[in-house]
Amino acid sequence: MSATLQLPVQCASCGERLAGTTPITECPRCGGLLDAVIDTTQRLTPSSFDAPRYTLGSTSGVWRYRQLLPAIADEHIVSRREGNTPIYWHDRIATYAGIEPGRLGVKHEGHNPTGSFKDRGMTVAVSHAKSVGASVIACASTGNTSASLASYAATAGIPSMVLIPDGKISMSKLSQTLAFGAKVVQVAGDFDAALQLLREVTAEFDVYLANSVNPFRPEGQKTIVLEMLEELGWQAPDVIALPGGNLGNTAAFGKALVEAYAVGLIDRLPRVVTVQAEGASPFYRYFQSGFDHYEPMTPNTIASAINIGAPASVDRARRTIQNTGGLVACVTDEELLDAKAVIDAAGIGCEPASATTVAGIRKLVADGEISSDARVVCVLTGNVLKDTDNIVKYHLDDVDGAPRERANRPIRIEATMDAMKKVLDDAILS
Ligand SMILES: *Cc1c(COP(=O)(O)O)cnc(C)c1O
Ligand SMILES: [Zn+2]
Repeated sequence: MSATLQLPVQCASCGERLAGTTPITECPRCGGLLDAVIDTTQRLTPSSFDAPRYTLGSTSGVWRYRQLLPAIADEHIVSRREGNTPIYWHDRIATYAGIEPGRLGVKHEGHNPTGSFKDRGMTVAVSHAKSVGASVIACASTGNTSASLASYAATAGIPSMVLIPDGKISMSKLSQTLAFGAKVVQVAGDFDAALQLLREVTAEFDVYLANSVNPFRPEGQKTIVLEMLEELGWQAPDVIALPGGNLGNTAAFGKALVEAYAVGLIDRLPRVVTVQAEGASPFYRYFQSGFDHYEPMTPNTIASAINIGAPASVDRARRTIQNTGGLVACVTDEELLDAKAVIDAAGIGCEPASATTVAGIRKLVADGEISSDARVVCVLTGNVLKDTDNIVKYHLDDVDGAPRERANRPIRIEATMDAMKKVLDDAILS
């Protein structure tokens, strides 16, 4: 650990070390992605994270874990009291996934201030942006990153700009972004095209890049895992499942686990299971080839948050799967929508991408890859209100001329007691 570098970052490809005191997102020597360097020679115990009530260390489920985060000064921290999300242990969801009741939990990141886990990364990235005096912060986004950036940048009083794939993001996410005041640029192309364009912009102009190629975002996202472990009394579950799109979160989970193990907080690593949608599954195919052959693809899934064909963090994510003995699964749009309907009907709810986790576990249990007595935590990455258009379509649209099995259709009646009695007899009290 270099004592001379402030906020040290290290190239994941060539090992070059740099100070993170300027906005850098790739290695100047080889172009590789950068990781924040955390002191893993320190020893931490469960009480290391105790903090007085109503201070940042307890009200933010990110900044509570400061010993394992980049050392950003207090006066630069931009927090909306993110994190502190619940784990629900729900038997109907467990049974649906093929896991014994009481052994499957869902950690709900939809409880964050803007409704997705992106807030955990954004509080660290925007704090870093503030510490380096950024004048504009920008991201390319499938929706949640832009909503989160718009909110945190507004909180910090820094202008923000987001590039979104034209027509391919949910109206709920676009509404949040507009409401929070970001400049929205709609790019004719997919997410991958938007990110490529933005990387060219930030290379040439004084614009701070807040995508997960920014080494500070994954640092905040590590706290999903740290908080989960803390809630489980630092007893690692057998499996942690999450959706995979750009794969920044898969990379962050691996880093969190390796660091938590190194500093003595856990004594074994859970398996990380990344689940992709079939229509955007380059990482799944890479895994199927024994991580031998990787090819990006043109993405096409209803789960817009993971509709990404050329994930930026593919190498870092591969290391997570390899380091934890993990797995990569993929599910069809109908499978993830079915799982979502189960999660929704449990009263919990999530957006489509999040439901890949439960659908993926169900598949892996059926395939014998995960045993039914495994202790599993699925990360629900986004709130149910993030994609209302697809909820309405799911329940109202026919598939092959018939409603879906779990469709919950409104019943239209005349305003008479006779009509109401018929509804009660046929559909409510029967
Ligand atoms: C961003 C996002 C994902 C995908 O995370 P990656 O880090 O891009 O793999 C999944 N679900 C939701 C709700 C998201 O917002
Ligand atoms: Zn390098």
